[in-house]
Amino acid sequence: MPKKIIKIIAGFTGLFTAFACYAHQPTLLDSDLLIPLTLASLSLMVALVAVLRLRKSQVALKRSEHRFKNSILASGDAVWDWHINEQRLERINDGLFNAIDHTQDFPPNRSNIHPSDIEFVEHSLKKHLSGETTHFEASYRAKDATGNWRWVLDKGRVIETDSQLKPMRMMGTVKDIGSIKQTQERLNLLANCIENLSDPIVIFDSNFTIVEVNKTFLDYFGGNATNHIGMLYKLPGHDKRQTQQFYQSIRKASHWHKELTLNKEKQNTFFSLSIDRIDDTKNNLRHYIAVYNDITDNKQTELALQKLTNRDRLTGLPNRNQFFTNMKSLVSSKNRHALLVFDLDNFKKINDSLGHHAGDILLCRLASRLSKRTRERDQFYRLGGDEFALVMQNTNDIHTITQAAKNFLALIEAPFHMSGHELVITSSVGIVLFPEDGNTPELLLKNADTAMYHAKQHGNRYLFFNDAMNRQAVKRLQIENLIRYGLKEDHFKVFYQPKMDINSGELVGMEALVRFITPNKGLISPAQFIPIAEETGQIVEVGEVVLEKACRDVKDWINRGLFDGRVAVNLSAKQFMQPDLIGSIDKILKREGLASYYLELEITEGTIMEDPKDAIRIMNTLSARGIHLAIDDFGTGYSSLAYLKQFPLNTLKVDKAFIDDMGNEKGKNMVDSIVTIAHNLGLSVVAEGVEYADQVEQLKELNCATVQGYFYSKPLSHEQFEQFLLAHCKKAHQPHREIEKEVKLSLVQ
Ligand code: C2E
Ligand code: CA
Ligand code: CA
Repeated sequence: MPKKIIKIIAGFTGLFTAFACYAHQPTLLDSDLLIPLTLASLSLMVALVAVLRLRKSQVALKRSEHRFKNSILASGDAVWDWHINEQRLERINDGLFNAIDHTQDFPPNRSNIHPSDIEFVEHSLKKHLSGETTHFEASYRAKDATGNWRWVLDKGRVIETDSQLKPMRMMGTVKDIGSIKQTQERLNLLANCIENLSDPIVIFDSNFTIVEVNKTFLDYFGGNATNHIGMLYKLPGHDKRQTQQFYQSIRKASHWHKELTLNKEKQNTFFSLSIDRIDDTKNNLRHYIAVYNDITDNKQTELALQKLTNRDRLTGLPNRNQFFTNMKSLVSSKNRHALLVFDLDNFKKINDSLGHHAGDILLCRLASRLSKRTRERDQFYRLGGDEFALVMQNTNDIHTITQAAKNFLALIEAPFHMSGHELVITSSVGIVLFPEDGNTPELLLKNADTAMYHAKQHGNRYLFFNDAMNRQAVKRLQIENLIRYGLKEDHFKVFYQPKMDINSGELVGMEALVRFITPNKGLISPAQFIPIAEETGQIVEVGEVVLEKACRDVKDWINRGLFDGRVAVNLSAKQFMQPDLIGSIDKILKREGLASYYLELEITEGTIMEDPKDAIRIMNTLSARGIHLAIDDFGTGYSSLAYLKQFPLNTLKVDKAFIDDMGNEKGKNMVDSIVTIAHNLGLSVVAEGVEYADQVEQLKELNCATVQGYFYSKPLSHEQFEQFLLAHCKKAHQPHREIEKEVKLSLVQ
């Protein structure tokens, strides 16, 4: 092309020269020459314009080519120009790859393409050359100038064809995409991991719209990806309000965790769900990723273990452990609820008479009877032994609670038929309300127990807790502690009250009465602490202390010739029922060296009538040892004369209440009847609580041989009683009143 331009310019120069000559010497030219000369000049002008235009477009082309090259250079891509016919591959700005100038290979840079990628490159190139694709594009590994493989993106197109449209020339670029490829590979790897992970995964955006779920998610939650993507992310079983709360809480946290249960086809699947924020590089929230970890196996093991620790093995009811767990959550969620504590009366008797196995069966049947009748939101528990609890949620309505207590008591009391027996169990119920009666499960249970105890004591069927009960309960607890301390520190002393022969005024015996003398609180009356000691079981130890001291004192007085009668020791119901009662009495008598002849035991009617058959057996054993037995407080309890005959008794003690009543005829007749019954049964009679001379006179008339009371003496301490014995020995013939004055005893109640 440059030659052509030179020729045209030369032609133009020639013509111009001829024209200029004529202008200076017009004579040299004739008119015949003028026309052709003009035509030639015109064509010269046209040619000049064409040349100028061509030149302008060439300059533009050059400029654009230059710009193009610069931009390619700036992009860092390599440019190639493949002259197909000449089998020449021209490389521009290619520092990266090995330059190949002449090649007969196909593709032309074949030796630089990774063997594994050749087939693909070849295929793509052929498709373009055959006109199937508008451009050629292939990413493959190419060998760089240092001989290493690099990932490249090769793009190009045919830019020249011959008249048969056969590609003549192709141009394109090669881009180093090593880092892009690496990133892509990483992304693919991560995407694959997520897709193939055995944990369900959901990715949702900052508006909680699901953008991705993995295969495992679909396996667990069903549907296909399109069913979920685009939907709002929600937790299973959450309603609108809960879902909003959930959104709020995950918005606030960078990490959120919760355990969830998915119920599908009646099977529970447990998940530990973790949700994390995904931020962009500028810390703007983009997405959340939720990963569900299936913890069903662990949970089931945990539940099985929990069941073992939270269920009562015998009845299958939730146990004390579970009771506290549930109560704690009720208290912390401020759920107003009622706690009813049931305790079966005399269940021990059933155990003792029918055996523990029968007792167990009865408890099971009772448990199933009760749990069948609980409302859905109420729960029955076995707290232990024969103690049950009913927790009524969401209620503080006294009427509903009272009705429930009555219903349950009726259920408990309906007879059970077991191996030919009809068994009736009774119960008492203590009721507390949350929050009125306590703000911790421990306090609520304690107060319910207190109310139940009061119900039992006062013969009520059910009682609501009140503060006065609590004050009493505190007092009881204080006394219980004092007794424990008193036993350790020897604060229990024995006082003696004489029993006198009504006619001779001789001392015939004495009753040992315990005195609890504490350093801080002084004397605590037996009437106050004995029922508590009885309840806590401490009476057994207290009783042993009294018996031991009484035996020791009497033995000493006998040895010294001051006394030769019996000492009466009181036995409470709990002591009487001790399985090793006889053994412990024997042991004490032996240790103190006192013959059993000197001992009398006072037992109340109530004690022996609780289980008369057993009482007869125990009393026979005691009687066989020569120990005398007296019925204390006779007339106040209920004893059948039929039984009375069978007891190996020696004495009836007429209760003070009857002696007090002797002022009227009816009262006197009462005492008369008791004395007659005693005599008819061959028993001696002791009147207790005798305070006045006229009572002594009346008792004499009624043939009551022995009397005991303040008229003769109040209970005396060891030292005082010793003085009493000494004085009595010296002045046996003097009236008792005078003796009392003489010894000037400081009497202690
Ligand atoms: P109790 O066995 O009926 O004892 C008689 C109670 O009447 C004694 O009260 C005694 O001090 C009191 N007393 C005796 N004569 C008179 C009198 O003329 N007027 C009045 N107002 N009272 C009189 P104490 O010692 O307070 O004992 C109360 C109860 O405590 C006893 O009643 C007995 O059931 C029990 N108790 C006392 N000591 C023991 C003991 O060592 N073991 C056991 N298990 N119970 C005991
Ligand atoms: Ca007594
Ligand atoms: Ca008595």
